Amino acid sequence: MSTFLAAAAICVSLTTTAELSIDSRFPGGSAQVDSLDQAARRIVIRPAPHKDAGWQCWWSFKLNGIHPGERIQLIVKGMNFARPIRASFSLDGRTWQHTAPGNSEKDQITYDLQFEQPGVWLAWGPPFQLSHAKELIARTSKRDTGAKEFTLATTKGGSEIPALRWDPPARDGNKRRGIWLQAGQHAWESGARWVGAGFVDWLISDEAEAKSLRATTRIVYIPIMDIDNVELGAGGKDQKPHDHNRDWSNEPVFSAVRAAQLLIQEMDEAEEFDLFIDLHNPAPNDLKPFFFVSPAMLLSKERAARQQEWIDTATLFLSQEKLSLAPKHKESGPGYHPLWREISKNWVTVNTKRPAVSVTLETSYNTPHSTQEGYQAYGRALGRSIHAFLERTKPRAN
Ligand SMILES: [Zn+2]
Repeated sequence: MSTFLAAAAICVSLTTTAELSIDSRFPGGSAQVDSLDQAARRIVIRPAPHKDAGWQCWWSFKLNGIHPGERIQLIVKGMNFARPIRASFSLDGRTWQHTAPGNSEKDQITYDLQFEQPGVWLAWGPPFQLSHAKELIARTSKRDTGAKEFTLATTKGGSEIPALRWDPPARDGNKRRGIWLQAGQHAWESGARWVGAGFVDWLISDEAEAKSLRATTRIVYIPIMDIDNVELGAGGKDQKPHDHNRDWSNEPVFSAVRAAQLLIQEMDEAEEFDLFIDLHNPAPNDLKPFFFVSPAMLLSKERAARQQEWIDTATLFLSQEKLSLAPKHKESGPGYHPLWREISKNWVTVNTKRPAVSVTLETSYNTPHSTQEGYQAYGRALGRSIHAFLERTKPRAN
């Protein structure tokens, strides 16, 4: 056999044995394979089912056995929340980008894929797992910015919920300002958690506004509230016995909610609480981010004025971002959900004495800018908004 023929034979044997395979056995992994056609290089999946763990809309897996340069079709079936216009992929498991827009049909979407390496990660959006939260917290703690790590609570599944706080000394006996930022009440909304990460990376940066904010303000940041479902790879939304964001009653079942309520009330009692932000991703057709606010009937005149000040300030910064901001906010009132009173921001509004502003920020996931980098840029702009809002609402010296 000539050298040429021997080389050709090896090539043939390689191309015929490299079979596509799917691996979702890692934290946050989720894929139920409906079919895998090796000849057509076509994969049909849907999010893995998890009993009582909420909507079946999150998927994330590693695809192996790719021949460099070949065309592969990924078809995702399931509810509309499971079928983003653009899927996300990563060549190294760390940096994520969008695929080209998929082709939507009735209950499925087809993504045409082409990669130059044998193994690639694919997901609904850039995953943000417990490992990401720990890495962010470790990176932050290493820098001399006053950040302290603490454990918010331990979940039912036994995971400690890592969190960060800044607790700068009060100056001349003055009260400090206080803010609370949390993400991950809904496991599938990974994009919102990247917004939170962008905020923290801004907060520990050398930007003058960031330095000023962290030197004067009590800040609490919870990267993932519902770690159990995030690590399981479940959707989380509408889980049993009820949604994590319908648990903000006087008898919460989730330890994260109970612990958050106690800390928020402590800050409020100390008269050091001004702003609560819960980070989420909205519905597929919400193509501009927006704020959900408490219904007007819950707001005192002073609180309503503060809320307007927040919306005006945030609009200045966020509307300049590529993701932009919808001109109108929405209310989470009786017309929104029967358990509207047990939504985080409404609990905060009702249970704080200070006229703190309490909102949900819904960052769109179905736009070309809803990427790992796009979300983080939005989080940085959110940080600048928070700084400007606290400056605008600074108590005047007597
Ligand atoms: Zn949500």
